[in-house]
Amino acid sequence: MSDRKPLIAGNWKMNLDHQQGIALVQKLAWTLKDVNHDFDLVEVAVFPPFTDLRSVQTLIDADKLPLVLGAQDLSKYDSGAYTGEISGAFLKKLDVRYVLVGHSERRQHHHEDDELIQAKVASAFKHNLIPVICVGETLEELESEGAAAVPIRQLSKALAEHKEIGEFVVAYEPVWAIGTGKVATSEQAADVAKKLRETIRELVSEEVAAATRILYGGSVKSANVAGFLVSDEVDGVLVGGASLDVEEFTGICRFQKHVTL
Ligand code: PEP
Repeated sequence: MSDRKPLIAGNWKMNLDHQQGIALVQKLAWTLKDVNHDFDLVEVAVFPPFTDLRSVQTLIDADKLPLVLGAQDLSKYDSGAYTGEISGAFLKKLDVRYVLVGHSERRQHHHEDDELIQAKVASAFKHNLIPVICVGETLEELESEGAAAVPIRQLSKALAEHKEIGEFVVAYEPVWAIGTGKVATSEQAADVAKKLRETIRELVSEEVAAATRILYGGSVKSANVAGFLVSDEVDGVLVGGASLDVEEFTGICRFQKHVTL
């Protein structure tokens, strides 16, 4: 087993207003406490919409909840006349630890390209946020290039040209598996994760490659999570739809109960 701490990350996408967000986080914290979840062994992070962050942060802080806060995006700019953008500095001020960068829904619906994603990763490093760099191939790319080529290319671009590389997480999310109910096989997820780790080794260093967590994402549920985490190469999961259901998400956080090592 690797000594990387598994990360279970719940991306709420554009769901739950701040009151619903508070209710979900309260219920999640109680449910995980009831089942004696050991947060030192498995880290749990939630990624609410921007408008929920302050409320969720206040709750986490006031009740000393062991949950970690993430954001779904950040601007490449620090401040200024960029209407609608959110600076990494503002996120840091709200005790946000992680930020998704390059989620396929941003690449697809907001036309984010590799250059912008690289700039957002730089901004995350600058503001001491940990970018969760999302990579993954479409169905057409899977058929024409296989599973690993596009994720490797996207990660290489995201990690290029930084003066300094801070801590980061990689989420391998095949686009065809997001929100579709289709999942990669655990062998495919492990194989792509292994190749992504080799890419980090080549581009950054052996040490960083060994320390970096690589997650799988795409229609993860409590019933299939264990399969992905059997492999030493996969260090957690990025969960969309199932993170809105406390029982399901708790089941995912407790993946070790189903993994036979
Ligand atoms: C995601 O939003 O990153 C995701 C993986 O979604 P889902 O779990 O719903 O497929």
